[in-house]
Amino acid sequence: MTLLEVRDLSVTYQGGAAAVRGVDLTLEAGQKLGIAGESGCGKSTLALALLRLLPAGTRVTGRILLDGEDVLGMRWGRLRAVRWAGASIVFQGAMHSLNPVHRVGDQIAEPVLLHGRATPAAARKRAGELLEQVGLPAARASAFPHELSGGQRQRVMIAMALACEPGLVVADEPTTALDVMIQAQILRLIEQLVTDQHLGLIMISHDLAVLADTCDRLAVMYAGRVVEQGPARAVHEDARHPYAKALSAAFPRIGDPASRFAPAGLPGDPPDPSALPTGCAFHARCPVALPVCAADDQPLRQAGPDRSAACVHVEGVPDADAGGLPSESARSTP
Ligand code: ADP
Ligand code: MG
Repeated sequence: MTLLEVRDLSVTYQGGAAAVRGVDLTLEAGQKLGIAGESGCGKSTLALALLRLLPAGTRVTGRILLDGEDVLGMRWGRLRAVRWAGASIVFQGAMHSLNPVHRVGDQIAEPVLLHGRATPAAARKRAGELLEQVGLPAARASAFPHELSGGQRQRVMIAMALACEPGLVVADEPTTALDVMIQAQILRLIEQLVTDQHLGLIMISHDLAVLADTCDRLAVMYAGRVVEQGPARAVHEDARHPYAKALSAAFPRIGDPASRFAPAGLPGDPPDPSALPTGCAFHARCPVALPVCAADDQPLRQAGPDRSAACVHVEGVPDADAGGLPSESARSTP
């Protein structure tokens, strides 16, 4: 069953230019999709758009269907019910997402209470169980956020995200602020929990190796667009878009300290949305750009089974449904 369907999604901040441009994604129930790309490529904007968490005045066009329901058309009350219970989000830097003056157990119990699922006593009990699920003693419920380590706080955030048993968890760089050892633990924890509970996962990172290791599918974003998507291992090991190739080369292995640096051999930064070059947004940094790349933006093209890439070097017809994950029957197991 299709859990999430995103069609031609574009997001423009007030007074700004489009930070997300024409994104198509499909996620089946229980599937794990990684989204990679350098800072500024629109990953967080896309994540926030899925739950309509963008600032007022932001223009969002296209379609977002969660369990077949139109998120962009939802009334406020319905949207509030869907957040946490339908889909939830884990942000980077848990210190800023947790309320410093409330005990973490109460913060985990809050969405459970808010959704009318439990009495206060039952919600407290559930908070304790959730803490144990994320590898913390239930007694830590009485701690304040500042009494916990960064990794422990991120575990609390994960417990909150799971509290109402959502079908979809969105994790936006959930480990970036943590040290490498803790990062690996937290990622494994998220992966294990979503697998056990058969939840859908969108995991956002700039680190392609991490995503290849934890996700079924990968989408690589550049300048607000998906420039490549396909089975996670295939995209990491044999990327077709030169940008995805550069990202893969920069992140050969999980936890590699050298992987903390910018994409190898890629000078410069992604363009600002307000100053996009003509043609392919990547052409100025691309080692294999042709004259046509400066003139025409390249559509996603079929680049193999279940794969597409937006590059002139990919032979194949423009893919009418490039963002879509294939149906269960059509999908070849990697
Ligand atoms: P990523 O998560 O991939 O680093 P973001 O989605 O945070 O990228 O940012 C994409 C673009 O949108 C960037 O150019 C960023 O400056 C811009 N942007 C992000 N948040 C806002 C905002 N609240 N208002 C205006 N522009 C923003
Ligand atoms: Mg971000």
